[in-house]
Parts: sequence; C-alpha cells; structure tokens
Amino acid sequence: KVRTRFAPSPTGYLHIGGARTALFSWLYARKHGGDFILRVEDTDLARSNAESVNAILEGMSWLGLEYDEGPFYQTQRFDRYKEVIQQLLDADKAYHCYCTKEELDAMREQQMANKEKPRYDGRCRHRTEPREGVEPVVRFRNPTEGATVVDDMVRGRVVFQNSELDDLIIARSDGSPTYNFTVVVDDWDMQISHVIRGDDHLNNTPRQINIFKALGVEPPRYAHLPMILGPDGAKLSKRHGAVSVMQYRDDGFLPQALLNYLVRLGWSHGDQEVFSLDELIELFDIANVNHSASAINPDKLLWLNQHYIKTSDPDHVARHLSWHMGNHGIDPSLPPPLRDVVVAQCERAKTLVEMAANSVYFYRDFEDYDEKAAKKNLDAEAKPVLQALRAALDAVSDWQPEAIHAAVEGVAERLELKLGKVAQPLRVAVSGGGVSPPIDQTLALLGRERTLGRIERAID
Ligand code: GLU
Repeated sequence: KVRTRFAPSPTGYLHIGGARTALFSWLYARKHGGDFILRVEDTDLARSNAESVNAILEGMSWLGLEYDEGPFYQTQRFDRYKEVIQQLLDADKAYHCYCTKEELDAMREQQMANKEKPRYDGRCRHRTEPREGVEPVVRFRNPTEGATVVDDMVRGRVVFQNSELDDLIIARSDGSPTYNFTVVVDDWDMQISHVIRGDDHLNNTPRQINIFKALGVEPPRYAHLPMILGPDGAKLSKRHGAVSVMQYRDDGFLPQALLNYLVRLGWSHGDQEVFSLDELIELFDIANVNHSASAINPDKLLWLNQHYIKTSDPDHVARHLSWHMGNHGIDPSLPPPLRDVVVAQCERAKTLVEMAANSVYFYRDFEDYDEKAAKKNLDAEAKPVLQALRAALDAVSDWQPEAIHAAVEGVAERLELKLGKVAQPLRVAVSGGGVSPPIDQTLALLGRERTLGRIERAID
C-alpha cells in the first residue's frame, strides 16, 4: 500500500517549499489510494518550539492537506530509537566511538593538510575496550566497499560510493538519536512506501538506505524534488517576498490558488495552468516532475488567485473573506450577507485583502471621501442630482437591484443627464470612492437606510 509522509522540522513557519513537498506527497497518496502521514521532526530541541508546530498544523489545515495519520512527534519516540540503536549495537552494525573533540579536530586538520575530504576514519571501529571518563557516541558501521544506488523517481539512478560515506553518528554522547537515524526508524515503523522530499536531502539518502539494509528492512522508494528559486534565480528567501504559507493567507490568497500555484512549481501537464484538486489527483504523476529548479512567479499567483476568486463557490470565498473582514473590525455575521458581497465584488479583486478593504463601507460608515473622487463628483452641480436621487430612491418600495436601477434611470431621464453623470456622484456619496460594483447592486447591498443616510450626508 502506498504510504507517504510529510516530515517538517518545526523551526519556524511552514515554508512554501515545505508546503509544495507536502502537496506532492499528499497528491501521490491520494492518487494511489494510499495514506498520507504527518510527522513532526522535533528532535532538535534547541531549534524546535510549540509555536512552530502550531504554525505547521495551521498551515496544513488552511491548505486543506488532510493527513490520515498523525501528527506523530519524534520527541515521543525516544524509547523506540534507543531500542533500535541497541539492536544495531548487538548486531555489531554500530559501535561506540570514544574519540574526543580534540582527536577529531586533529584528524580533520591532518586530512585537510593532505588535501583529503575530511571524514571520520573509523579508528574506533575495532576498539573493544571502553575509554575511562569518555561518554561515547554511537556510530553506524557503514559499508566500506561497493556503491549505494538511489533509484530516484525524479532524478533517476544516482550512485554513491560507500567509501565516500563515513560512519555516521546515530546517537550522541548523551544518548539522543541523530536526524538521519530517526528518519529511518520512523519511515520503517510508519511503513512509508514513498519518501518525497526536497533534493537538499539527496545526500542523506544513501546513508539512510544503508541503515535500512543493516536493519534488514527494504528501504522505501525516493523522489527528490527540485528546489524553488526566487525570480532572480537565487535560493528562495525572505527578500523575495512572502515565504510562509500563513503570510499568503494574510495577503489575501485563497488556499486553492496557492496549491495550484505550488503544484506548477516543479510539475506540469502540457501547458495547462488551472487544475482543480480532483483533476490534480487524477493527473499528477511523479514522472512529470521537472528535473531542474523552478522560479517563483508572483504575477502568476495573482492571476490564479483572481481566477479562483471569480470562479469558486461564493460561499467558499465568503468563508475566507470573513477572516479578512474581521481584521477590519467588522462582524461578518451582520448584514449584508458576505456571500452577496462576494458575488458583487468578485470580478474586481485580485486578493481578498483588496476585496475586504473595498467592502468595509457595506458594513460601516466611512470617515472621509476619497479626495479626488469627491472633488470631481460631489461638486455644486451634483447637489440637485443627489436631491432628486434621494426623493426617487425614497419612493422605491421593493429594495432590489431592478427597482433601484429603474429609479436611478428615471432621475437621469428627468434631468436629461447620462446615466454615468447620475450614478457616479451617487457612488461616491454612498461608498466614499469612485469604484464599486454596479450602482444598483451596491445600493441593494447597502440597504435603504444606509443609502439614504449617506446621500443626505453628501448633500449637507
Ligand atoms: N525534517 C526534514 C526537513 O524538514 C525532512 C526530512 C525528510 O523528509 O526526510 O527538512
């Protein structure tokens, strides 16, 4: 059975590179009817913290990447790691190393002087006696001959000479297990069939495969994903803009837009750009993952976001918009229904931040008019227009777009003005600015009382 996992280290936020790894693992499991597991690699106690764990869980849930098992925490599995370390020691597949820091430093210097690659030379491999006063580390007895082949699903065959891999420390002198070892025990215990991760881990893979073999366990298949770069081709970092998943939420992106965007960073299906999740599950194929790194493209993300804002179920968009309205101090359970606001606004917002900012006036009186719009539209000439509109709208009994439209049109006809000459002052009067959905929709959403009140305010 296919079982994949996402195994983040909680040392900060959920990075979009991590989110893409999670997405590919999730897709692979979903496509093959398998399970997707979340494992928190929190053994680095100095760098891990609860806040980062929460950031990961929050990011996964916002993205909608549901896991079938977990979260598992490595810090809760120390007993198990100890057990496997003992198993390797008993089978002589691992050994105690008593080398002191000074000795290791001297060895390293010597190797550097000889222009050799610094590596542990295995001097404790055959030691039989402990060394007084030194707490040993445990090293894995790596094969010294032959090669380890990573048959990578993305990169193809990658061959590592075992002589290049030294005897890895699997337990520190305080007994705590190290990263490459815990990953193996976990992937084994959790019966992971496919490890999908960033290619910064490729060099760890032969070491992990050798530990699997020493344990007599068939290693999983591996797929190493190419890196994500900034638009300038450099390694993606904060200076390229948002890198945390939750920052994208804060910036007004829909999770679908981000997922769609992330999947295209490193994977393609012809020249198709827009994919529903169901389509992705159907079409996703690791074999189509790019071999080279891909650069982020903020314009494309904005384009996708706009697409999803326009085409998603308005109720769904409203649920996400609701959070942004809350950021403006607005209680989105009050009228008008947020769903209707979404329907009216979805054609002209690239982000939900923009949509929220442009929708505040539906819920709360604005403080000041947009200066330019007011100067142009709320001048002396506008007064009689607004007075006529107030009277005409006051007479509308069925406060719906059709009746409102008829009333506004009636005023334009009577005053022999183009519709725009009437609608634009009205728009500025009720919204404070020069941009809003069509005027009849705008007024319908605002309600009669707010509309008439704001027209009066503009006349005064
Ligand atoms: N914890 C590792 C990381 O966050 C991932 C390890 C793995 O996927 O094997 O980079």
